[in-house]
Amino acid sequence: MAEITLNNINKVYGDSFHAIHDLSFTIKDGEFMVFVGPSGCGKSTALRMVAGLENITSGELTIGGRVVNTVDPKDRDIAMVFQSYALYPHKTVRENIAFPLQMAGMDKAEIKKRVEDAAAILELTSNLDRKPGNLSGGQRQRVAMGRAIVRQPAAFLMDEPLSNLDAKLRVQMRAEIASLQRRLGVTTIYVTHDQVEAMTMGDRVAVMKAGVLQQVDTPQNLYSRPDNVFVAAFIGSPSMNLYEAVLDGTVLSLGSNRFEVPDTVFQTRPGLTGSAHRKVIVGIRPEHLNDATVRPASAEISAAVTLVEALGSESMVHLKIDAPWVDSGDPDAEPEISTGKAAVARFSPKSTVRAGDIARVSIEAEELHFFDPDSRASIW
Ligand code: ATP
Repeated sequence: MAEITLNNINKVYGDSFHAIHDLSFTIKDGEFMVFVGPSGCGKSTALRMVAGLENITSGELTIGGRVVNTVDPKDRDIAMVFQSYALYPHKTVRENIAFPLQMAGMDKAEIKKRVEDAAAILELTSNLDRKPGNLSGGQRQRVAMGRAIVRQPAAFLMDEPLSNLDAKLRVQMRAEIASLQRRLGVTTIYVTHDQVEAMTMGDRVAVMKAGVLQQVDTPQNLYSRPDNVFVAAFIGSPSMNLYEAVLDGTVLSLGSNRFEVPDTVFQTRPGLTGSAHRKVIVGIRPEHLNDATVRPASAEISAAVTLVEALGSESMVHLKIDAPWVDSGDPDAEPEISTGKAAVARFSPKSTVRAGDIARVSIEAEELHFFDPDSRASIW
């Protein structure tokens, strides 16, 4: 069993900068766990502590049931894959993949077998005698993966392994890594700042902000049941639209617009029931706003259309809604929406709205999210 547990892990750099605060969770045997968050949130620090490349200031780390706080990296039975593939340019692919096994003193026949098995899995067989300089970026990335898998470690630790690849290759490699991990069933921690990568690859995703864990959950739950405003805004692209609003009984006032919040919302969020003139933050995903003339709904508002981006399958429509916009509290979360302070809606391609129109916009009100304006936590 290669379960990894973090118990109240803290990291203080030097004697002052508190980079990680009381990080606690368990990564199950065989699970693909992603650490995600904006730059500087501490995800690499957390991974490096698991790897043993960074001291743990306080707390307890176990791998496969063994406390490893003071165990050397090489004795932790883990394999790391970094952003820089760290391949030896003068060695062939075969020699690069074999290197960690030679260092471990494994016999030649076993090394040959493991290297060839790994090459077959990674479709590198025909490249075994080439040097890294003659390979594409994706092939080099696969060699780095090969070097990790031949060791048959208890866990893979990957720190932004795809960030040197172009966008198209990154999409292809993320699918390859995710399916390889599932086939091998090796416990994996994967660090990225890219929420799409996190959502598409992870069994579960740990969202971090400023050294503090915000939520650890399945991709679907992070999307549909975010614990707070930060997670709500960070997960999903375009971001959730967030506004200050007022709830009076079952009526929501969003700027000058008023509409009824359906019963189903109060059933799933009993914390909202019986509110009298309560300030809330309301969250609306782009796909829950539409052109009311194309797709009417019981909840409708008026909004000024500032931009229409027709993508064929849908139109991204930027809307000015006359309610106070709420910042997610993270400048890196979604830079493209921080400029205009406009809501983004995914309209049906049948919509004919144009920039400058005042549009009637339907809202799937049963899909609304509600947060407390002071704590910024979801209201359940
Ligand atoms: P990025 O995506 O930019 O790599 P990250 O989430 O991985 O960010 P870390 O590299 O873990 O963030 O850094 C977390 C915080 O700790 C940052 O504020 C960083 O400046 C700080 N930090 C990292 N390494 C050190 C160090 N050796 N000494 C002091 N502070 C450090």
